[in-house]
Amino acid sequence: MSKNYTTSRPLLSDEVKKAQGAKTTREPTIFSKIVDKSIPADIIYEDELCLAFRDVSPQAPVHFLVIPKSPIPGISDADVQDKELLGHLLLTAKQVSEQQNLSNGYRLVINEGPDGAQSVHHLHIHVMGGRQMNWPPG
Ligand code: AMP
Repeated sequence: MSKNYTTSRPLLSDEVKKAQGAKTTREPTIFSKIVDKSIPADIIYEDELCLAFRDVSPQAPVHFLVIPKSPIPGISDADVQDKELLGHLLLTAKQVSEQQNLSNGYRLVINEGPDGAQSVHHLHIHVMGGRQMNWPPG
């Protein structure tokens, strides 16, 4: 029997409301401006393919984002040509987590589209750690 995943929670966080109103376009986002350094960010790792920087609204003691320099809007836009890049982003998330001393574990999250509460349409992996995570997520 299939489970009913419809939730009846009355309250949505500001971040979710923002995500529901966010447009999915290929226009440059605020993350493109972080990549080209036209706006500041607390960058903790950079190489030729990707960047990691601290989330401006952290949800855990350590919360950073790993993004590709190329502006893929979301994971649903990635295709087989992005296979190596996607692997590189995951390995970077692991490597930077080690640098951030998350030896007791951490959580990786990719939000996709309105139901996934994606508010910035430039692919990013959230890396959160430094506290006990709960399951299921909200
Ligand atoms: P998502 O809801 O998965 O699209 O997550 C977007 C994330 O980007 C949120 O956690 C925001 O706090 C974060 N964010 C938005 N603007 C900035 C910024 N200028 N610098 C760092 N993080 C940001």
